[in-house]
Amino acid sequence: MLIEIPARRGKATRLKRGQSVRVINTTGQQVVDTWAFRADDLAEFMSMEHSRVAIGRIIPGIDDTLVTNRRRPILTLTADTSGGIHDTLFAACDRWRYEQLGCAGYHDNCTDNLAAALKEFGLVPPETPAPLNLFMNIPVTDGNRVEIRPPVSTPGSYVNLRAELDCIVAFSACPQDVVPVNGLGLRPTEAHFEVLD
Ligand SMILES: [Zn+2]
Repeated sequence: MLIEIPARRGKATRLKRGQSVRVINTTGQQVVDTWAFRADDLAEFMSMEHSRVAIGRIIPGIDDTLVTNRRRPILTLTADTSGGIHDTLFAACDRWRYEQLGCAGYHDNCTDNLAAALKEFGLVPPETPAPLNLFMNIPVTDGNRVEIRPPVSTPGSYVNLRAELDCIVAFSACPQDVVPVNGLGLRPTEAHFEVLD
């Protein structure tokens, strides 16, 4: 069953160990912030800083296993038709990011979207871990600089992630519309996911 991550919003799902989720970049230019928390203890969650140590690089590829803040396997990337460009370096956007970018008043953000997505399950995230920013294109240039570029993914391309333990996975269709994270059109859109057995 295809489930929508509405534009600018978050959505979560439970995954049993061995189940996979397909995250689909429906429109091709939409970044999807992704988190995973251990089902029976949300204090253990997928950690980008620990995962970079585990996989020895900053962008996971096929068969790379992402790990928790306790260094236990939690999600394995098993398929990727998006061009393989994702980000593990940037924090989730939040109200302060948009304040700094000059937005007046409240702006939708991935941090609040994570909280809202888990709230549908009666859960509260212990913090906002650094997300796996699917489809986000943040190249390291000159060996030491990071740049924000539009995604290279195409409409309908996807990533499959397999759960290595029972977990709850949350997604945010990033509402960034000030810098070109979601394409040069600065137009956040919906994305979709599907749980695969
Ligand atoms: Zn965001």
